[in-house]
Amino acid sequence: MSGSDKTVKPATRVVQAGRRPEWTAGIVNPPVWRASTILYDSVADLRAAAGRDTHHRLFYGRRGTPTQWSLADALTELEPGAEGTFLYPSGVAAIAAALMSVLSPGDELLLVDSAYDPTRALATGLLARYGITTRFYDPVIGAGIADLIGPDTRAIFMESPGSLTFEVQDVPAIVAVAHARGIVTLLDNTWATPLLFPAIERGVDLTIMACTKYVVGHSDVMMGSVTAGPGRFAALRDTSFALGQHLSPDDAWLGSRGLRTMALRLREQGESALAIARWLEGRPEVAQVLHPALPSCPGHDLFVRDFRGATGLFAFALDGGDEAARAALIDGLAHFGIGYSWGGYESLAIPIDPHRHRSVTRREPAGPMVRLQIGLEDVGDLIADLDAGLDRFRHARDG
Ligand SMILES: *Cc1c(COP(=O)(O)O)cnc(C)c1O
Repeated sequence: MSGSDKTVKPATRVVQAGRRPEWTAGIVNPPVWRASTILYDSVADLRAAAGRDTHHRLFYGRRGTPTQWSLADALTELEPGAEGTFLYPSGVAAIAAALMSVLSPGDELLLVDSAYDPTRALATGLLARYGITTRFYDPVIGAGIADLIGPDTRAIFMESPGSLTFEVQDVPAIVAVAHARGIVTLLDNTWATPLLFPAIERGVDLTIMACTKYVVGHSDVMMGSVTAGPGRFAALRDTSFALGQHLSPDDAWLGSRGLRTMALRLREQGESALAIARWLEGRPEVAQVLHPALPSCPGHDLFVRDFRGATGLFAFALDGGDEAARAALIDGLAHFGIGYSWGGYESLAIPIDPHRHRSVTRREPAGPMVRLQIGLEDVGDLIADLDAGLDRFRHARDG
């Protein structure tokens, strides 16, 4: 609809993208097309279909229907310069397919040390079993990544900011080094989404989202996506087909439904999260707040340079105290759920111990850490809740 029109702003694109008239027949939301078998008129038609590129053509259920194509196209339109998007039944499935589309036995992967833990486990487990070696790098390395590149280095996997410790990476500098050496770049862009960091425009080859988080936005669907830059889609699609990857049309429909309000949700959740982060900075029980929009966060200058704003996930370190004192804070919260994942409309608080998942940058925090996902509740209610929580923490810590 408007994907090629560069003057259209992302908030407009997020509403219009992917809604082709032939898929909607006038209905606002593309309906759910469920299919395994597609029927042909003749043997000749059936044989002709098999030889064609099946992207955007009904062929067999595993290749998708207009319900999945609509969402995939919408995500492609949100990334100016992108070639195409493939959808997956989870964010981890998306990460695995993206890496497998690029890496072969004997290759080396450079993986940021702040990466999501299952990404690390994939690299050091399954990929290692298939003869791929992984070297971890410091998230603040920037152009210094050039020193780590060896003859077998094939890909660099970034996550910026890291989803536990929030270091912002110098993506453009890493991309420049990689491209000069013929190395493929991948980015886990779940935190910023293309609305706040258009990764393909910044030169990233494959940008990945756990759509489970902000695209779905309602904590009820698992989903992942990989959007490919110029020349990168065919290998991604062929690998994903070979792996049998497929997102159910019902889930794709929920993803499209969530996407339409994503810009609005990100703005509201981002504003509330920053207000809470600033409030936490002023509390004596808090040693450090890790939020990319605060000057104390590693890579804050890069955040200001490269991002259009912040979203609703950040962390803080308490000043001293132990596991029990941290639990006293979290357990008594009235408006924060205790649970994994993030990006939904509801607030969450979890204990995190990121230094236990590091290889080359093990930094001991000043005290136990807490990660907050800020939802759409009233920000004053959330601050009052945290205020009481910090009182409980202080009493538990000081006896
Ligand atoms: C949640 C998450 C993933 C994985 O997504 P799932 O849909 O849970 O598999 C990947 N990367 C980041 C940064 C995440 O937070």
